[in-house]
Amino acid sequence: MPLNNIKAIDPELYKLIRKEEKRQRDQLEMIPSENYASSAVLEALGTVLTNKYSEGYAGKRYYQGNDNIDKIEKLSVDRAKQLFNVPYANVQPHSGSPANSAVYFAILKPGDLMMGLKLSSGGHLTHGHTDVTLSGRFYKSIQYQVGEDGYLDYDEIEKLAMEHKPKIIVSGTTAYPRILDFKRFGNIADKAGAWHLADISHIAGLVAAGVHPSPVEYAHIVTLTTHKTMRGPRGAVILATDKGLAKDQELGVLIDKAIIPGTQGGPHNNTTAAIAICFKEAMSENFKDYSKQVVKNAVVLAEELKKFGFVLISNGTDNHLLLIDLNNKNIDGWCAAWALEYGGIVVNRNTVPFDKRSAFYPSGIRLGTPAITSRGMGESEMKTIAGWINEVINIAINHLSDDIQSDNKEKSRKARADFKKKIKTNKDIKRIADEVKIMCTEFPAPGLK
Ligand SMILES: *Cc1c(COP(=O)(O)O)cnc(C)c1O
Repeated sequence: MPLNNIKAIDPELYKLIRKEEKRQRDQLEMIPSENYASSAVLEALGTVLTNKYSEGYAGKRYYQGNDNIDKIEKLSVDRAKQLFNVPYANVQPHSGSPANSAVYFAILKPGDLMMGLKLSSGGHLTHGHTDVTLSGRFYKSIQYQVGEDGYLDYDEIEKLAMEHKPKIIVSGTTAYPRILDFKRFGNIADKAGAWHLADISHIAGLVAAGVHPSPVEYAHIVTLTTHKTMRGPRGAVILATDKGLAKDQELGVLIDKAIIPGTQGGPHNNTTAAIAICFKEAMSENFKDYSKQVVKNAVVLAEELKKFGFVLISNGTDNHLLLIDLNNKNIDGWCAAWALEYGGIVVNRNTVPFDKRSAFYPSGIRLGTPAITSRGMGESEMKTIAGWINEVINIAINHLSDDIQSDNKEKSRKARADFKKKIKTNKDIKRIADEVKIMCTEFPAPGLK
């Protein structure tokens, strides 16, 4: 992108944007919730559509001058309905968390009981996690977990649902490597008389491409973010299904009202246009092939890492992500994630189910294939990457000191700072970062070409 105007007006910011571009170009982006939006999506985000206020919905705006915006929003809504095969879509949520808040605002009253997956089992904050979140503070919440084997235990979920009779059951995950049984979730919700919200934020692209089963037949409402496997702009969409409209004819009206005036003001029209583009892109054969490759790559990466003795939650993956439990390697997720970043491999540290460590220094790392697959990397690159990950972690392990795990906070903090410094300047880790960079040059990222 040219960015000549930014360069002229704000050289300081210009440099930072260019640096971030370089980072995204030269490193392996393996945080499973990230991706590379296409040049068309990026262009839409930078248009004058950002100038316009459009509170309301197509044909029912509060401000004048919205003829073009109406058509743009309608395109985006129609494509959402077509892509996911649903009768209703709202494309205005500013992101995934506001989308979920709006759904709760639409169908729950303060103090109603909700049920979602526990954060440490791979759930999301917005699924009722304690009173540090809006969902956990304004609603009562019970949470289900994964079993010892890392898989959801549907009998246990059903037992909990029948015992507590929540008003809503949320299915959906941020760190769960397996296929979700939406049919079973739907049956459980029906039996308990609950709403079923399927939050497919992470897997929306896989669902759109038919690579993960769709929840649409079994959920009343579906939420999704558009910037993860969907590969669009940062944003979110709320869908109501036929099943949802059969439960409450007014569901679409309730959701519309929950967005505005309920929880938001004007929509981000530049994002709405970019969502329309990403849905068009997602209807192509190309996107189906891409999504299949995302899963193939994750499976190969999982198998290769297992050969090096890495322990994977649920022993593998069916989707775009893996969760590594590092306990057998005696290194925590914080140390591993920093070492990998210096080696050019960007992942995030993550709690694992039943984690004995804290959320800030958890036992695991989470990594995924959506972004690197967007660059065109395939199975043979996954093998190379698994080798690098193993090498970096082994080097990191050799530089750990006992003080890192000390109960004395000051001691531990100092030891972590020392570790970071040593790893940052380690010449083998630098060599790996250079090798990563060379491979990245062979696979230019969309939007950065
Ligand atoms: C990412 C995610 C969200 C939140 O999306 P933001 O855009 O970060 O607010 C909600 N639910 C799930 C399951 C997610 O994966």
